[in-house]
This record gives sequence, C-alpha cells and structure tokens, in this order.
Amino acid sequence: MRRAIFPGSFDPLTLGHHDIILRGITLFDELIIAIGENSEKKYMFSLKERTKFIKEAYKNEPKIKVLTYKGLTVDFCQKMEANFILRGLRNPADFEFEKAIAHTNRKLSEIETVFLLTSSGKSYISSSIVRDVIRNGGDYTGLVPDSVRTS
Ligand code: ADP
Repeated sequence: MRRAIFPGSFDPLTLGHHDIILRGITLFDELIIAIGENSEKKYMFSLKERTKFIKEAYKNEPKIKVLTYKGLTVDFCQKMEANFILRGLRNPADFEFEKAIAHTNRKLSEIETVFLLTSSGKSYISSSIVRDVIRNGGDYTGLVPDSVRTS
C-alpha cells in the first residue's frame, strides 16, 4: 500500500492545495491530509473548521483521509505507516524552504518527500492571501473550494 501524508496548516484549504491533492491521489493508494496543530501558531480558522472544510471537500474521495496531528511530521508518518510526504512547490522560496525540511526528514527517517509543481494559474494562491482577502471583506470564493465558507 502506497500511503502518503499531505501535511499543512490549511488555514484555510485553497484551490492551490486542491490542485496538489487531486494530482497527488493519482500517485498513491491512500492520501492522508494531515492538519498540523501548532500551539505557537495563531490560526484564522479553528482546527474544527479547517477539518470540516477539508472533509466536506473530499467526502466523495475514498482514497482521501483527513486527520490532525501534533509534533514531528515524520513521527506521524511512522505512526500511520506512510512512506511518503507530499508537498507542493509554488516558487523558488518554497523550494529553498522545502528542501531544508525534506533533507531533515530524510536524516530523521526513511520517508521520501514527493514534490509536485503547482499547475500554472494556481501558483499565486496561498492561505495567507486568502486570509487577507477575507479579513478585508473581499470575494475569496474564486480562490478556495466550495466547502470553504466563512458564514
Ligand atoms: P504549511 O504551513 O505547512 O506551509 P500550508 O497549508 O501553507 O502549510 O501548505 C501545505 C502544502 O501545500 C505545502 O506543501 C504548500 O507548498 C502547498 N501549497 C500551498 N498553496 C499551494 C499552491 N497554490 N500551489 C501548490 N502548492 C501549494
């Protein structure tokens, strides 16, 4: 069984994540979307809301599971018996950041990180931009899946 973890904050889920998820599931038998709980981070959406948006978006995808985790991603992978971490790359800044994390994870475990490049037209989308649009009362609906609604 080829099982991968797609870890992230998903604050909130965006069409950028969605693109990586839909393309990622074609590579694996099971994809666990793992929502990180970091007590040091301040989120716009609660863990419950972030989970609800993702569960709703993929309720008809039998290969996708949605779970939350705390601590190291590699420890969570080992617990779930997942051999792969899936991550998306938008730009050179993502690459530099992700490279350091992937090397560290390889040092700590045997887990391989698989990177997918963002589809053209999605690379500008980030959760932080979506949060900014929401905060300022803009129309965010073209940036997120339908399940992400603030009211
Ligand atoms: P984190 O806090 O771990 O960066 P995010 O929720 O911001 O969590 O991102 C989770 C994953 O989704 C990361 O691999 C990130 O690069 C990827 N991602 C986010 N937005 C996009 C996008 N527009 N296109 C491709 N990948 C994306």
